Amino acid sequence: MTPNFTTATHVLIGLGLFWLGAVVGSFANVCVYRLPWGKSVIWPASHCPKCLTALKGRDNLPIFGWLLLRAECRNCGLHIAARYVLMEVVMGLLFVGVHLAISADLGWYFPLDRIYGGRLLMGTMLVSFLVVATMMDYDWMIITDSVTVPGMLMGLTLGTIMPYARSVPMRSTSHMTGLWVGLAGILAGFGLILFFRVIGRILFRREAMGLGDATLMGVIGAFLGWKAAILTFFIAPFFGLAHALWKLGQMIVRRLTGGRNRQADHEMPFGPYLSMAAIFCLLGWPWIWKNWAIDLFDSISMIFKEMT
Ligand SMILES: [Zn+2]
Repeated sequence: MTPNFTTATHVLIGLGLFWLGAVVGSFANVCVYRLPWGKSVIWPASHCPKCLTALKGRDNLPIFGWLLLRAECRNCGLHIAARYVLMEVVMGLLFVGVHLAISADLGWYFPLDRIYGGRLLMGTMLVSFLVVATMMDYDWMIITDSVTVPGMLMGLTLGTIMPYARSVPMRSTSHMTGLWVGLAGILAGFGLILFFRVIGRILFRREAMGLGDATLMGVIGAFLGWKAAILTFFIAPFFGLAHALWKLGQMIVRRLTGGRNRQADHEMPFGPYLSMAAIFCLLGWPWIWKNWAIDLFDSISMIFKEMT
């Protein structure tokens, strides 16, 4: 017999997931910092970029390490940016968010079984890959294959071993269909980006989306399945628009207060918006699907039936 969730289990699992997320976030910082240069993420241990002193013991603890050091290197006093600790907190919150979204979908006091476990594993894995890809794209304007290829393989593997771990309607009953849903997701992701790349080249004579975006969509498709991948692609521009409006507001405020516009107002790459949209789909899936995606896909399939 499998035990059911109680309020106490929710709290315990929530706290545990927050801490696990912070640990993963700490590792994600290392990945973003080292992978673009083809460096190993395991060796050497984290060290100060200025004096090269290795962090030891408790300094390595997520969140607390930074607080204990008071944001400074123990040896040379180099300031450690708040961004690193922020990434750990955000990852912790996202892990808790994955748990809450699954709980909302399954009805809060559901059995603690393999469906919950599978969805939790796939959700937290996807979030980890997306956060690394986002930060890398934001920092260096690239998303390396050393992130996206393992991401796609992980999504395919988990979706094949645990075909029940994707959300309805991408849930499958057999390993074979689980594999197909993931492969179709990768194809849909690549196809959409490549299609709009060509359109962008014809209409605007510029590269609107990079190949890194295609492989990132591949990761999203492998994990979420093709329907959610398509939705993600079309939701992403809304996040871009929100960010553009935010930047416009900042520019207007700066003008009004007599300041000048900074060089930092450059364009933001598309990868972060894709990641945000994918996380939006992942965490909001119970509501997104029930409220409008189901009708959307029904009407799309109607159009295709009319055409053929
Ligand atoms: Zn130092």
